[in-house]
Amino acid sequence: IATGARERAAAMIDEPAVTRSGRRIEVKINVEDPARVPDALLRSSDGIGLLRTELTFESGDLLHDEEAQYRVYRSLLQRLESKPLTVRTLDIGGDKPFQGLDQPVERNPFLGLRGIRLMLARPAVFRLQWRALLRAATEGPLRVMLPMVTTQTEIDATRRLADACLKELFGEGQSATLPPIGIMIETPAAALTTDTLEADFFSIGSNDLTQYVMAAARDAAGPVADLLDPLHPAVTRALRMVVEAGARRGIEVSLCGEVAADPQALPTLLDLGLDKFSVASARLAAVRQAVREQP
Ligand code: PEP
Ligand code: MG
Repeated sequence: IATGARERAAAMIDEPAVTRSGRRIEVKINVEDPARVPDALLRSSDGIGLLRTELTFESGDLLHDEEAQYRVYRSLLQRLESKPLTVRTLDIGGDKPFQGLDQPVERNPFLGLRGIRLMLARPAVFRLQWRALLRAATEGPLRVMLPMVTTQTEIDATRRLADACLKELFGEGQSATLPPIGIMIETPAAALTTDTLEADFFSIGSNDLTQYVMAAARDAAGPVADLLDPLHPAVTRALRMVVEAGARRGIEVSLCGEVAADPQALPTLLDLGLDKFSVASARLAAVRQAVREQP
C-alpha cells in the first residue's frame, strides 16, 4: 500500500472494523512472544486469537516450568484488560521443530506424530501445560484450542486429561477452572466432519488446511508453491462446510491463517460468511482498514 494509505490505516487502528453495509468484523491478533507485543496493540485488538505456545515456550525455556507458563498466561490476560486470550496447546512437529522434546524420526513428519497427536503421546508435558492453563483460566477470559485435530477421539482424550488435572489441582487446594476448549480445523478430516465434531469453537488454520487439502508442502519458495492457494475451490468448499456446520450447530467459527491478512482475499472470506479473524499483529491496522473498504 502507498504510505498515505498506510498512515491512515495506522491512525484508525482503534476504530472498529465495520464494512460499509454495517457488518462488524472481529480482528484478533496472533502472538508468538508476548514480550514483543506492545500493550497498545493488545488494547487495540479484539483479543489474542492464537498464542503459538511452542514459540512462546521455546524462547523462554518454559516446557517443564508450570509456574512460568501460568505467569505468561496470567500476565497476558491482565494486559488484555478482559479481552479474550486464545491459547493453542503445544503444536510441535512437521514445520515446527522444538528443542528438548523427544520426537520420533519419521519418514513423513508432516503426516506423523505432530500437534495434538504428539501431546497425547507425551502426557507428562501435556498435563503440565494443562495445569498452568486451568489455573490461569480463573484470571480472565481464557480459551484453549487444540492444533492438528483429526478425530473426536483426540478431543475426548484431551478433555479427560484436562478433567484429571482439574481434579488434581482441586485436591491440592488450588483455584482452577475449565475454559472453553476449541479445535483448529487444519486437516481435511476435521473440516469434513465439522457437522459432528464436539468442540466449543472452531478456528480454521488455513495455512495447514491449504497444505493438506492441496497436498502441497507449506513452503512459499518451494517447487509446488503455486498449488498452495488458500482460495482454490477445494479449499473454499472446505471453508464453506465449516462455516455452515458452525452456523447450524451454534458453534463459533473463526480463521487464524495468513490468508486472513490478505486484502485481496477478504471479499471471498466475507462472502463465505466468515466474520472473525486473527492476524499477525503487524497486520491489524491494515486488515481493519481493508474491512472498512468492503461493501
Ligand atoms: C495455520 O495452520 O493456519 C495456523 C494458523 O497455525 P500455524 O501457522 O501456527 O501452523
Ligand atoms: Mg497450523
